[in-house]
Amino acid sequence: MKKILYVFLLALLSINSAFAQKRKKTDALYKVHEKSVITTLKFLTSDELKGRNAGTKEAEIAAKYLEDIFVKNGIKPYFISYNDTLTNFTPTTYNVVGYLEGTDAELKKEFVVIGAHYDHIGTTDKPVDGDYIYNGADDNATGTTTVAELVNYYGKMKSNKRSILFCFFSAEEEGLYGSKHLAKKLKDQNFNIYCMLNFEMTGVQLGGDLLAFITGYGRSNMADKFNEYAGKRIIGSNAFEMQYQLFRASDNYPFFLEFNIPSHTLSTTEMSTFKFYHKLDDEFDQMDTTHMTAFIQQMIPVVEKMVNAPTQEIVLKK
Ligand SMILES: [Zn+2]
Repeated sequence: MKKILYVFLLALLSINSAFAQKRKKTDALYKVHEKSVITTLKFLTSDELKGRNAGTKEAEIAAKYLEDIFVKNGIKPYFISYNDTLTNFTPTTYNVVGYLEGTDAELKKEFVVIGAHYDHIGTTDKPVDGDYIYNGADDNATGTTTVAELVNYYGKMKSNKRSILFCFFSAEEEGLYGSKHLAKKLKDQNFNIYCMLNFEMTGVQLGGDLLAFITGYGRSNMADKFNEYAGKRIIGSNAFEMQYQLFRASDNYPFFLEFNIPSHTLSTTEMSTFKFYHKLDDEFDQMDTTHMTAFIQQMIPVVEKMVNAPTQEIVLKK
């Protein structure tokens, strides 16, 4: 009898410690490493990539680098390959699309789309002080790096009940061609989407009391929900964004148009004072990688709650 009790207690103990192990793997204890942020950002903004202009071989090198991040993290292609060739743009260029199936039998039928464009505007034949490369650090190597870190997170944790489609878009700069192509293709396939979250220009601290602003603030309750998920107010609106309707200026917009779902972009750069937008000086050394790391770290528990919410809590406002 005693021996049985002892065995029973031992079993209980080991179950307990298994739970403790599992708990240890939660988002709160996951650490985003600035070194990793720097590595990705440095690669994408290097002169060798010549400003990642859609359709160039340098943009293709960037695409291959992002594909490798998927492979390393066990993120599968959603289509036949990771390369989703644009049918609305020449020369040939690709979105890079990865798929992580959800863990919940029901919720995995719904997708959250997480994206950022990796292309930029290339080079100029009018160099300034010998510099002719638009490295596109803030726009949008930073958003791309943010999504790459979320890929690293979900690759390790696989903690998403809903399925996630990770999208690195191309030809955004020429007119949102990558996201227009993909949103339409998915719509034609009856893709079951819950919401879309896009990242643009996250390399500079916003200042004030907000961590980031959302485009199209009033169109859904996404910002409200994100603040609730974060346990404090970190996301809000932005006057410049509202004046210039940035909601329509990035890859969230085609998803909103095709699916009529909450679809927004998060950004941390105050556009009214940022001097380097589409300038040769939008370079790696202007970026605040400590801020970026902290931003991604704070986004992780928010994204977790979005992909795991038992019902569709984020909804359009009337
Ligand atoms: Zn951009």
